[in-house]
Amino acid sequence: MPTVREIEAYLYGFAPKELAADWDNVGHLLGDPEQDVKRVLVSLDITEAVAREARDGGCELIVAHHPLMNCRWHPVQSIRRDDPQGRLFMALLAGGVSCICMHTNLDAAPGGVNDILAATLGLSGVELLPGGDNICRVGTLPEPVPLREFVRHAAKALHCGGIRYADAGRPVQRVAVGGGACGEYADAALNAGCDTFLTADVKYHGFLDAAAAGLNLIDAGHFPTEDPVCAKLVSLLRDGFPELSVRKSAIHADVIRYAVGEE
Ligand SMILES: [Zn+2]
Repeated sequence: MPTVREIEAYLYGFAPKELAADWDNVGHLLGDPEQDVKRVLVSLDITEAVAREARDGGCELIVAHHPLMNCRWHPVQSIRRDDPQGRLFMALLAGGVSCICMHTNLDAAPGGVNDILAATLGLSGVELLPGGDNICRVGTLPEPVPLREFVRHAAKALHCGGIRYADAGRPVQRVAVGGGACGEYADAALNAGCDTFLTADVKYHGFLDAAAAGLNLIDAGHFPTEDPVCAKLVSLLRDGFPELSVRKSAIHADVIRYAVGEE
């Protein structure tokens, strides 16, 4: 059976560490690198519920997209049961569950988060978005479609509970995508001649500025734009280690709920 260290090295072969942003925290973040692994749980995030699911399912390893911890955002000065992060670390350590996180390196990797997002939306001729820091992609639809129609298509393809968008009055054909919080690349999308940019975590003024500049801006949600990469991680691990039992979390879902708004 492979060790955690071997599985980390294999995943870096697909999403090299050098592709990660310098503020990021990726790789094997918790547990014993020499631990033998028989069962792996794949999840976009590592929550207490996911840690429980791994332990109850006999998984020695969780492979996730978002880092378990990043001390640049959130210094870890204590590990205590009365703190949610401490409780999570204690559950993982007590259950003997290691964690490997592939974050911005997986966003940037060929065939990673953003190539999968572009493919899921049916874009073709997909390439790196100039000025998109190796993260965002740009591609085209076979023919222009009305924005409302494209938004409905995106909601279906990405299993979104709801979508927020700003309409710049242009049909959709040349589309930039950036899974997760990539709103800062709206100008790069405009400069690359895109009519539409699909990303997540957009603020009010981001919508306002994009619409004024002539760019349709779609916020399809953080979880829906990134979760498709989990299926890729599962197949990658199964291909590399046929002896491993690998499955996606059955319980982890978008924490954000949508109430019905005005159509
Ligand atoms: Zn993310």
